[in-house]
Amino acid sequence: MEEASGGKTVKPVKPVKPNMKAHKCAALENGDGVSHREAVAVTLIPGDGIGPEVMAAAVKVIEESGVRIKWDTQEAGAAALKRYDDPVPAALISSLRRTRIALKGPLETRVATGFRSINVYLRKTFDLYANLRPTRSLPGVETPFRNVDLIVVRENTEDLYAGIEHQVTPGVVESVKIITARASTRIARFAFEYARRNQRKSVTAVHKANIMKLSDGLFLKCARRVAGDYKDIEYREQIVDAACMKLVTAPSSFDVLLLENLYGDIVSDLCAGLVGGLGLVPGANYGEHGAIFEAVHGTAPDIAGRNCANPIAAILSGAMLVEYLGHPQVAERIRTAVQRALRSGRAKTPDLGGKATTTQMTEVILEELKQAA
Ligand code: ATP
Repeated sequence: MEEASGGKTVKPVKPVKPNMKAHKCAALENGDGVSHREAVAVTLIPGDGIGPEVMAAAVKVIEESGVRIKWDTQEAGAAALKRYDDPVPAALISSLRRTRIALKGPLETRVATGFRSINVYLRKTFDLYANLRPTRSLPGVETPFRNVDLIVVRENTEDLYAGIEHQVTPGVVESVKIITARASTRIARFAFEYARRNQRKSVTAVHKANIMKLSDGLFLKCARRVAGDYKDIEYREQIVDAACMKLVTAPSSFDVLLLENLYGDIVSDLCAGLVGGLGLVPGANYGEHGAIFEAVHGTAPDIAGRNCANPIAAILSGAMLVEYLGHPQVAERIRTAVQRALRSGRAKTPDLGGKATTTQMTEVILEELKQAA
């Protein structure tokens, strides 16, 4: 159960093991035929902060791509708390149980107060154990590095995010780090399977097993065991602090990164910085029976409601959704439209050094998508 720490208690729900037959069929039918398909139901969570602005952009792009989706829009987080006095309303959970797929905007998580992270809650409830964050250099975005192409695979269900914290005595608190062989093995297998299917060369397990000998030691032991089944993929290990230094000096020495939950969270943002910032990096949370697609960035309260957020991370997360639904070529068209829009320099949001609004940037991407059709 997710306890509130001074705010609202998030009600527990039974973890789902839904039937993914419908999605599997969609994925198997064909690569990119979109017009004759029945619309697939997907839960849409606009989210908090810049969420509604960037999610509106992602939805427009998906609709323009021709993929037919029946959106079931649901509120969560601060928006739902305000309206329903519940950050995870029952309607949201039942929608997710029904669709098993969501495109989700960022949800507010207060620092050191308020209700527990809804993001963590949803990932745990639906057992979306694998967080995938492809981080690639984009044309027209100036950064110190070129050709960054990193895949961050983050374990999503345990580690310090298990949420087990208590006060031992005033002035002393304890947070428990949970690492299990089961979760470590399945995330390692996910990383290696991803590497094999996507012709990646190496998987680097990032850890701090020199200090956390038992927990990170177990994570490494599982990764090594799984690596033994993938002789075609090079397996490496690197201590997390050294990995951070190397990422900002020689990012192309890495390929797929395999991390526990907390290191994965931190290193993903670091990797986003390598390619131009949080406005550019998409993400997805996969489980055996469903997936939630969401950008790496948070609610960005500093720029919310000003129509200046970069919509690209949300749009590229939408492309990952489209691919999951069985349309890899359409997903590639969306990615190409984003690249062309950036290369043209016709619209750049302030995070990329431009003055364009979210709406203007989206319009340019939509135009590029139309031309590519
Ligand atoms: P949260 O607590 O929800 O994670 P945060 O502000 O701590 O919010 P982010 O939302 O990830 O973390 O934002 C970090 C910084 O990156 C902020 O300065 C924000 O404006 C910027 N940022 C994040 N997303 C975008 C975006 N899509 N476009 C432009 N800037 C962004």
